[in-house]
Amino acid sequence: MTVEAAIEKASDILVRSRNAVVSSGAGMSAESGIATFRDPGGVWERLDPAQVGTTAGLLNTLQNNPEPLISMFHELLDVFANAEPNAGHEALYELERMGILQTVITQNIDNLHQEAGSIKVIEVHGNGFRFRCLSCSTRVAMSRKGLIRDVRARLDQLTDYSPAVLMDVMPQCDQCGSMMRPDVVMFGEAVQHIPEAYAAVQSADAMLALGTSGVVYPAAAFPFEAKKAGAPVIVVNPNENAFDSVSDVYVPMKAGEALPALVDNVRRKLG
Ligand code: NAD
Ligand code: ZN
Repeated sequence: MTVEAAIEKASDILVRSRNAVVSSGAGMSAESGIATFRDPGGVWERLDPAQVGTTAGLLNTLQNNPEPLISMFHELLDVFANAEPNAGHEALYELERMGILQTVITQNIDNLHQEAGSIKVIEVHGNGFRFRCLSCSTRVAMSRKGLIRDVRARLDQLTDYSPAVLMDVMPQCDQCGSMMRPDVVMFGEAVQHIPEAYAAVQSADAMLALGTSGVVYPAAAFPFEAKKAGAPVIVVNPNENAFDSVSDVYVPMKAGEALPALVDNVRRKLG
């Protein structure tokens, strides 16, 4: 199937849809300047997930060999400070305003779907601009620029990254005074909002899997669940992915190019 035919078929599905659900992954934000972890040049080529992907591994690496991690962390702060929603995020907001898209489920922690305007966003891996109290689970959202400024200032003062020192610089909960931590899901930790995500997926009348490789579970299961419940599945990804057996339409393009084209087609068809 040509790319044009794939866009045409995908827009035919969306024109008929009133309860489309998105499952987005790191590729969704690649055109906002946030590189995926898994692709060539990504974080996992430079750092070992076993050493930095779990909370215990991260604390251990920070204490014993912090330099590569701290320098990568500064790079990520720069990237996140400058990231803005791309044309793909904006197209999804448009689909929501057209009454077609109802829910965005995302593995991303970058807040960009919300910043593009999307209202119902289920974040299964948390949000990098939010803290969570370790005792009472109170969550506090921070502003992108303010938080990054604050983290940079605190990092610049540290020479020792032992757990005791890090605990000291973490914010404290207003409700109970305990330590707060970034509200992101590390390897081995429980993913968030899975019942809500499954409910959205099982009631979807179309599923869009956008910029996700299909290897990180349980998010990888969403397109399969939607298909089982009768929804056609549209996959947008310029590279190979794990959804061949489930996709009704595969659009081999970047999300920031495919989604605006899809929305244009849908708008034309709806007249
Ligand atoms: P992943 O396994 O979902 O892989 C990313 C996918 O995006 C790949 O299949 C790749 O082919 C595709 N892709 C690359 N550029 C694209 C584009 N322009 N348009 C559409 N698709 C594109 O994700 P990962 O990178 O291995 O990350 C693992 C986890 O780490 C994520 O689930 C997330 O929790 C976290 N992460 C978050 C961000 C973010 O918040 N932006 C970025 C990197 C990683
Ligand atoms: Zn608390």
